[in-house]
Amino acid sequence: SPAGADLWIGTSWKMNKTRSEANDYVAALLAADPPPSGVTGFILPPHTVLAEVAGRLAGSAWSVGTQNANWRPEGAGTGEVSMRMVRDAGASIVEIGHSERRAEYGDTDQAVQRKVRAALEESMTPLLCVGESAEVRSGGGQDRFIAEQVASALELVDADRRSEVVIAYEPIWAIGEHGTPAEPEQIAPVVRVIAETVAEQGARILYGGSVTLQNASELLQIPGVGGLFVGRTAWDPAGLLALIDLA
Ligand code: PGA
Repeated sequence: SPAGADLWIGTSWKMNKTRSEANDYVAALLAADPPPSGVTGFILPPHTVLAEVAGRLAGSAWSVGTQNANWRPEGAGTGEVSMRMVRDAGASIVEIGHSERRAEYGDTDQAVQRKVRAALEESMTPLLCVGESAEVRSGGGQDRFIAEQVASALELVDADRRSEVVIAYEPIWAIGEHGTPAEPEQIAPVVRVIAETVAEQGARILYGGSVTLQNASELLQIPGVGGLFVGRTAWDPAGLLALIDLA
């Protein structure tokens, strides 16, 4: 990849896996070769198994994070967990602003801003997800939409910490079982826009949305893409390990 040997490849399990399924997955990772140096392999389990997964992978080459946390440090937030709590459970990465959360669980632009700042304050890596809808794409508005979404999400972050934010470009229309896989020529211009938006500070940019073993290599060749953020293909540990082997 033009981004060099240094890549991030990981998965969110989304709303999947019981404790025993999570433990089977971890056992498969621990039985396999660790990610080679230069590849950061990460998994984002649900909150119910975060501490268990992070505990078992502590001291391994794998990184563990969470799919969401509240920006408030503590208090009256029924059903929520805070950045401090997920960090205490072993998370070093916090996914923020996935399109499913923006659409259904109240991750407004303002909430995303606060979460990005709060993750950095708790010394975790924010994994900021951005992506345009099919409607925006069909009107040709994706470059502008993504530039605004990235700029907004970073608004509360000091300039000298912005490079710590990892940004995943995930076109909404390309995600999940009803998604249409995006072509490299549809992805590349938007990755360029993200790179320009973070210009001076720089940021690692991942691609996500219907990543498979078949398209992973060509996605990693897109200029500016520094890794892959994967759903379905990596819900089986063999999928994640195979993607890392390809990289
Ligand atoms: P998918 O999910 O790989 O299953 O399309 C990607 C994502 O939502 O990050």
